[in-house]
Amino acid sequence: MTTPVYQNFINGHFLKNQSGETFAVKNPATDEVIYHVEVADAFVQNAAIESAKQGFATWSAMAPIERSRILLKAVELLRARNDELAKIEVLDTGKPWQEAECVDVQTGADVIEYFAGLAPAQVGQQQMVGEDFYYTRKEPLGICAGIGAWNYPLQIACWKSGPALAAGNAFIFKPSEETPLGAIKLAEIFIEAGVPAGVFNVVQGAAEVGQWLTQSADIKKVSFTGEVGTGKKVVASAAGSLKDVTMELGGKSPLLVFDDADISQAVSAAMLGNFYTQGEICTNCTRIYVHKNVYQQFIDELKARTEQNIIAGDPMDPEVNFGALISKNHHDLVMGYIDKGISEGATLLTGGKALSPESAPNGYFVAPTVFTDCSDDMTIVKEEIFGPVMSVLVFEDEDDAIRRANDTHLGLAAGVFTKDIKRAHRVIHQLQAGICWINSYGNSPAEMPVGGYKQSGIGRENGIETLDHYTQTKSIYVGMTDIESPF
Ligand code: NDP
Repeated sequence: MTTPVYQNFINGHFLKNQSGETFAVKNPATDEVIYHVEVADAFVQNAAIESAKQGFATWSAMAPIERSRILLKAVELLRARNDELAKIEVLDTGKPWQEAECVDVQTGADVIEYFAGLAPAQVGQQQMVGEDFYYTRKEPLGICAGIGAWNYPLQIACWKSGPALAAGNAFIFKPSEETPLGAIKLAEIFIEAGVPAGVFNVVQGAAEVGQWLTQSADIKKVSFTGEVGTGKKVVASAAGSLKDVTMELGGKSPLLVFDDADISQAVSAAMLGNFYTQGEICTNCTRIYVHKNVYQQFIDELKARTEQNIIAGDPMDPEVNFGALISKNHHDLVMGYIDKGISEGATLLTGGKALSPESAPNGYFVAPTVFTDCSDDMTIVKEEIFGPVMSVLVFEDEDDAIRRANDTHLGLAAGVFTKDIKRAHRVIHQLQAGICWINSYGNSPAEMPVGGYKQSGIGRENGIETLDHYTQTKSIYVGMTDIESPF
């Protein structure tokens, strides 16, 4: 059986490359190739820039409210095609249908809707300076680029393009080579909604294509989601043309569970923050600090619920709530971390092995894994694993927990479980993280800014401030009085 071959999406249509180079995409739950994609060669790259230039000229000249109407139409189409798009995400990523059906497309659509609503509300300032005055305009940057990770492919494409397009920019998006189809579908939807050709282009390929985006002097901003190491390369490369950057990078986030917490709720948060999307979420609370008084209760409930309630298998089965990791390579990397946890002396509470569920025997599954007796210097406690591996640590007092939670070069997210309202805020205010939850974990609505402290990122996505990150301010001074000149 032949599999489909997708081309790059440029100037409102598919464009064949000249090199003939393609890459294969596998379903992580079956290890089977499901389609091929053409790589964006130099011909496609040049066409993408030309297309985006034209797209920008048309789009930026439209009234914001007109752009808003078109983007809202795209939101409607995204929601109407929820199931078709969610299925693509399941087949590309290996995540459960149960999640994709209600999260991936919805949260993507929400963000475009949010920024579409804000577009006509963006205003400049006016201020008198004596009899003269100045005013400011919020102008789009021009051509912006997005480079995405593979864990939430369509959602990431929406989160980046939503504010960029709302502010009047043109966009070139490169999805991860592992998950290229969702962005193509978004491009088709934008066209159907009435976004002019050239405003949203999709280029395909691996690191080289990403590097080209970061280097191109025609591109004014790059918004990147991926690993810290790659993010550093992107920033270095973007410096060559002094591009603006938004960096959404990795984390090793702490969750602090105090002895007055609702333990069942805290266990729910810990499980969601380690096993949802089989652990492949940047904000995951992979370091769980539990107060010594409730430690035993916490791990007893955690073990029981992890062993009883997690169902791994064919991700399209609606009963399955735990999917396959993205690739064989990533599977081996995660298993390597588990071996390291064992060899460095942590105790395996549950999991710790590869899985081969009956309904998906060839998938890249790793059992939900919990380590106890962990110490802060263990590799599994220090490094981002990006898989279903949780480390549980014990603490005795608040200050100690805060110090240990902050003892990392990363600062993406953090959480606190306590019923003491003063302690909740006192602790959260001291945690060095950009995205924090109190008695909750993982929710990320369109209205709330998200992004990292320390090496977890630069800039923010979502929330009102993000629109500013896709505009530049032009100040215009207006002389109402005669110029005083010594010449
Ligand atoms: P990578 O850093 O490996 O890749 C991210 C993207 O960058 C991919 O599209 C990749 O292409 C591309 N790329 C690789 N090298 C370069 C380069 N030199 N220049 C430009 N682009 C390049 O991340 P993963 O895809 O493995 O994603 C997992 C990581 O993403 C985790 O660290 C996770 O924490 C982070 N993440 C952060 C989020 C946040 O909001 N903070 C959200 C989601 C994930 P290709 O893959 O095709 O080779």
